[in-house]
Amino acid sequence: MNNSQSSTLFPLNPAVQGFSCLRCNHFYPTNDSVADRGTGCPICLQEGYPASLKLVYDGRPAIVNALDKGIGRYKQRLPYLAFPSLGEGSTPLIRLDSLAQELNLSALWIKNEGANPTGSFKDRFSPLVVARAKALNRQVVLAASSGNAGVSLAAYAAAAGLSCTIVSTPAMSPSWQRAIRLHGAEIKMAETSLDRWPYMREQVEQAAAYPATNYIDPPVGSNPFGLQGYKTMAYEISEQCQDQLPSIILVPTSRGDLLWALYEGFRELQAGEFGLNNVIINSPLPRLVAVEPFPRLSLVMSGADYRGQFPGKSGRMTSIGGANVTYQSWYALRETSGLAIDVSEKDALGGQEELARKGLYLESSSATILPALRQLHAAGELRITDRVMLIATSHGYKEN
Ligand SMILES: [Zn+2]
Repeated sequence: MNNSQSSTLFPLNPAVQGFSCLRCNHFYPTNDSVADRGTGCPICLQEGYPASLKLVYDGRPAIVNALDKGIGRYKQRLPYLAFPSLGEGSTPLIRLDSLAQELNLSALWIKNEGANPTGSFKDRFSPLVVARAKALNRQVVLAASSGNAGVSLAAYAAAAGLSCTIVSTPAMSPSWQRAIRLHGAEIKMAETSLDRWPYMREQVEQAAAYPATNYIDPPVGSNPFGLQGYKTMAYEISEQCQDQLPSIILVPTSRGDLLWALYEGFRELQAGEFGLNNVIINSPLPRLVAVEPFPRLSLVMSGADYRGQFPGKSGRMTSIGGANVTYQSWYALRETSGLAIDVSEKDALGGQEELARKGLYLESSSATILPALRQLHAAGELRITDRVMLIATSHGYKEN
């Protein structure tokens, strides 16, 4: 298949104008390959301040594609108008009314992203990375992952007929490893998290593998085309909640891909760039709360350099582990007057048990949302008028 044929199958949304840097705002046109390198803005990288790029659309307000379910409803604000689909998105909101009453909240929901095809929110990301790789006629997609992103990318690569390599460490659960291999992907094991980067760089620079995730240190966010898929969660919440939009959203966080994309999705809605919900045009953005296994973003919010190392033990919470933060996660918290909360492994496991007793079996990294909510309550950060949404990023079945 030549380039023009594959580009016809996966045409870039004509509304996409180019890419801009979150930090320096430099604009790059769509014919610049800068967004496909996996290393963010070259100017900021040169200055020693790695920062992500985002897609820039033209000024025409997007409208929902009401005939589609899932993330395709919002394709006017996605980089590709067609992409491989396994039925991702349209995940349920579950009300936790008794807990809302106990904590004196106006409303409390869980957004259950475990209901996606491979059981995590990553299924909103993978279709767009795979579409981009197909459009560029790349044969291999590549990601560093501790689990969920690897399973998801492997599944979507299989659906699109692409090869896939997942770079991980021996800490990855055997259940995740088995699923990735069954999808036909290769797992390359590195000794430590940081040992994954030289291999990834070599595969990208010398073997033309298409990178879905970061491979520099300090890191940037994941692939900018894939991140656009996460915005659909903000659009969906906006459709599901109508005039009862959440005022606070708790998000289990590692490098802040989802955190930033939720900010970006709600920002677009507020700016009227997506004509979905007029209520938000006159409302503040939901306050984003990053939930972490140990202090990282909370230190950056108190003045630490975002490029620093923040070591700590994540234990079973591998999906939100890692010693780094990113510019994008700090940016999302700053723009939404947000904050970061740290949850211990013991509290995460307690949250996992409590949510399971309500019928929701979440991965321990995701179950941090409940103890984080209790911490916010204890700290006096919640008001009786608050409507709180907890993002359950993944179900628990893949964990050992
Ligand atoms: Zn820049």
